[in-house]
Amino acid sequence: MAMALRIKKAVYALIGIVLMTAAGLCHAGQKTHTVFFEGEENELHVFRSFGRVEGKTLLIVGGIQGDEPGGFLAADYFADLSLEKGNLIVVPRANFPSITKKERQINQDMNRKFMDDHTRNYEAKVVEVLKELICQSDCFLNLHEGSGFYSATWESEQRNPGRYGQSIISDAAVLRRAKNAGAKDIDLEKMALTVIERMNASIPVPSQHFHFNNHRTNQPDSLHKEQRRSATYYAMNICKIPAFGIESAKSLPLEQKVKQHIWAVDGFMALMDIIPKTPGIDLKKPEMQYMIISVNDSIPVVVGKMQRLTIKRGDVIQVHDIITNYERGLSVDVIGLGNEFNDMKKKLKILESTRIEAKKDFYTCGSVFLDIRDTPGAVPIGRLAVSDSKKADGIRYKLKVNGETVMVDNYDHVRLNYGDRLVIVDIITGDIDPSEYVVNFKGFVGNNSRNDGEDRGYVIDTGAGVLMPRYSLERKGLKYHVVTTLGGEEVGKIYIDILKNS
Ligand SMILES: [Zn+2]
Repeated sequence: MAMALRIKKAVYALIGIVLMTAAGLCHAGQKTHTVFFEGEENELHVFRSFGRVEGKTLLIVGGIQGDEPGGFLAADYFADLSLEKGNLIVVPRANFPSITKKERQINQDMNRKFMDDHTRNYEAKVVEVLKELICQSDCFLNLHEGSGFYSATWESEQRNPGRYGQSIISDAAVLRRAKNAGAKDIDLEKMALTVIERMNASIPVPSQHFHFNNHRTNQPDSLHKEQRRSATYYAMNICKIPAFGIESAKSLPLEQKVKQHIWAVDGFMALMDIIPKTPGIDLKKPEMQYMIISVNDSIPVVVGKMQRLTIKRGDVIQVHDIITNYERGLSVDVIGLGNEFNDMKKKLKILESTRIEAKKDFYTCGSVFLDIRDTPGAVPIGRLAVSDSKKADGIRYKLKVNGETVMVDNYDHVRLNYGDRLVIVDIITGDIDPSEYVVNFKGFVGNNSRNDGEDRGYVIDTGAGVLMPRYSLERKGLKYHVVTTLGGEEVGKIYIDILKNS
């Protein structure tokens, strides 16, 4: 037991060091996502956004009590935000176990564990991290939903000074810091009222307007002495930063509660001169992870990048979706079939082995393969076989000559009659994605507006004068070559010999 405790203490100390170090590094313009207690029931996700220009740091915590979705759903939007100036630390779901149960608490109220609490449970581990984050920030917002409606005077059971809903709460009107060297007192009431004025301009119903709710937590006659153990109390008294509870009234529609929290956070960001970047730019390389495919209207299967799905000749496939690191601009191309732009959701009858290429806009971002097995029994009935690509011995070429499929080995000669129509359908490359190669018919331009050298998929009519003899090997327009490159390096070729019977 003693041993276990010591190890736990060491772990907490380590977390502290990691957090401190992260804060000290230069992350201008970056976003980070840190997972604490990964794989445990209390997994904690922390999102940081660092502005291009230095500034103040605002901490937003949602979901410290799981039955208050207005807060954690609003926090999600800020987890994704890119910033021009200042920094955000966002913990959308502080108490994930309680969220999954839609309950205020599991073992203990997590928001009563920030001062003088020594009960070891998962809530304590999360609170340790939150305490570190609070002290790294210049202002802290705890997003809640409260019962009833706060009012400075007693109006009814549902609307009185003891209620929380539609209020911005602080533990005092002024945060006294003047005793600390160089620090100034902070007028919390003024901060809250500035934000409230902005928020109420968007709330048409006066009875739903927000109010400033000073808990006067440290005063002997405070109505809310239990808040002396809360996160905002810790922020004010230990970290000496302004801290507020944002309370949407539980009884309002969810959408309104989420919007109100967003307005409140917007208001505090403006006060702290934290400026969002609109829109955020993140031009990461597009990467497909999975393709969702059904065969003959089966339940769709998930086929990973560079995996192979074995089917029978004549099976009808349908690509339902692709999963990539982008959500928009996605399409698929079933090589040699379908239409010119997008084969997503099209039912296509597959008569020969082919490849499906995923694209994000015009960037190819991954392939999966359809392998035809004609041997009876090779494809178990009712079960689809997905396998990984093997290393290939060498590149092979899949061509169509006047509509007939021809397979050609690397460095082979292909003999065509003048007037034959050739299509370089694809190359077969084993465990490297064929879309990473460029297959260039020297002397033919497939796409005039974007001559990237890629000539797969075009009909090359050898009798239509589209070939340029000056690029032929003998400069007479009868011997051409198709050169394959990977990353600019030549890795293979085939020869196209045209017979002219004059
Ligand atoms: Zn709450």
